Amino acid sequence: MSSLSATLTQLVARSRELGADRTVCNWGGGNTSAKADEIDFRGRPTRILWVKGSGSDLATVTDASFTGLYMDDVLPLLERERMSDSEMVSYLAHCFYEPSRPRPSIETLLHGFLPFTHIDHTHADATNYFACARDGEQLARDCFGDALIWVPYRRPGFGLAREVALAVRANPQAQLVILAKHGLITWGETDATCYATTIATIARAREFVEARIAHSERTLFGGARITASTSEQRHAIAAQVAPILRGLVSAEKSQILRFEEGEDVLTFASSRDAQRLTTVGAACPDHLVHTKPWPLLVDWTPEQDSATLAAALRTGIAAYVAKYQHYQEENAQQDLDPDAATPVYRATDAASDPHPRVILIPGVGMFTTGKDAAMADVSAQLYRRAIAVMRGAEACGGFISLSDAESYAVEYWPLEQYKLKLAPPEREFARRVVLITGAAGGIGSALCRRVAQDGAHIVATDIDLPGAEQLAASINEHFGPGRAIGVKMDVTQEESVRAAFERAALAFGGLDTIINNAGLASVHPSPIRRLSNGIGT
Ligand SMILES: [Zn+2]
Repeated sequence: MSSLSATLTQLVARSRELGADRTVCNWGGGNTSAKADEIDFRGRPTRILWVKGSGSDLATVTDASFTGLYMDDVLPLLERERMSDSEMVSYLAHCFYEPSRPRPSIETLLHGFLPFTHIDHTHADATNYFACARDGEQLARDCFGDALIWVPYRRPGFGLAREVALAVRANPQAQLVILAKHGLITWGETDATCYATTIATIARAREFVEARIAHSERTLFGGARITASTSEQRHAIAAQVAPILRGLVSAEKSQILRFEEGEDVLTFASSRDAQRLTTVGAACPDHLVHTKPWPLLVDWTPEQDSATLAAALRTGIAAYVAKYQHYQEENAQQDLDPDAATPVYRATDAASDPHPRVILIPGVGMFTTGKDAAMADVSAQLYRRAIAVMRGAEACGGFISLSDAESYAVEYWPLEQYKLKLAPPEREFARRVVLITGAAGGIGSALCRRVAQDGAHIVATDIDLPGAEQLAASINEHFGPGRAIGVKMDVTQEESVRAAFERAALAFGGLDTIINNAGLASVHPSPIRRLSNGIGT
């Protein structure tokens, strides 16, 4: 029984440990495996490959996130020269040790074909400094010597797994594989040595590249092109334009926005090199479905006013959409599964909204978009990883990425799109932001829970801040992180109402619905009505 598999228990713990450090494992990226002798349903001992399922995140995996496959079924595939993606998926579906497990990772065969007991495949920042750099291969060799196998870029799948397996077979001294423009593979004969090797390899790459950065004459990202505004100014301008931006990126489907203003983000967005680097491409193939190949860098500086920024957002988004649609059209005839008997084109139901997912405003910060706050947060996290990778890669001869055709082949790869389809269907109030006044009271909190249950994001406002915050925390615990914020608001004070609207704009990008539930003793009209004009999306 899997629940008793000591190997699987160890693997879950190792995976979570790797996932806990986002510089090692970005969100949803990377996968781990272990091979073990288990007992099959007839009581016979059998060799099983435990590998992470598709679509889960290493940081939060449980034993149910892994799938066991019979090695006796997996290994003969290495004798084949090619295999289409659909063949691979249906073949692996026949190798399940236990039914009702998730579909195994799209990188399963990387694990299955290598002769090592424990394997980590990560997209660590530090090894991607090399993987995404013009001089990366040479510098990685300088760093790791002949322990390194460097595999040129090719899309994940059967072909890549086979190429890696043959390279390792031909280089028995190897201790790591770097997949160009993609990631790292490390291994060990025990769970502990595998983990230690992964961490040590990443640390060595980091040390090597950090030393280069320290000795470099170049300023980070070419230095500042503009000076970032103060935190207060940034918040004011971001809150002002967020609803406009949200309206613009929601032309096809309503989006939730997230605002990010970490130092890394501000430095990058305000730098001289941002203009060049934002056109290069993604820092890792698995970012693509969450960040698209490029962010939008808005053509604006803090010396200009918010009306100019609104206009720059309009022209910037329009230009981005045109560029993205051109990219879609240019690649529409690309065969996404070249080893299949008949060509495979982008599925008609594939998510293909042409609007940017990452919007950088120089001097102000970054907005990311998503169908909910959690997915907008994933885009933000991944783009921060991209900034980190670009910083290192720039010190290794310059950041490089996938070509447009390579990006498209991953972004619209049916196996990547499958991960997106694992999400449950959207509920009635999904993608909507609802502000409720008097939220901490009995009726208010019941209202909040009700609309949250229907998928809404909640701005729970009340004069009782601890009460509103407590409610928001409980909604987040129930319905997922980022779904609600608690805000102090006195509906009789215009300034207080304005501040609450700003918080909503920064947290979610704006409001769709207001439920004015707070009891008013005053006979004056609610200031909300006057303020709401132009604030919604
Ligand atoms: Zn990978």
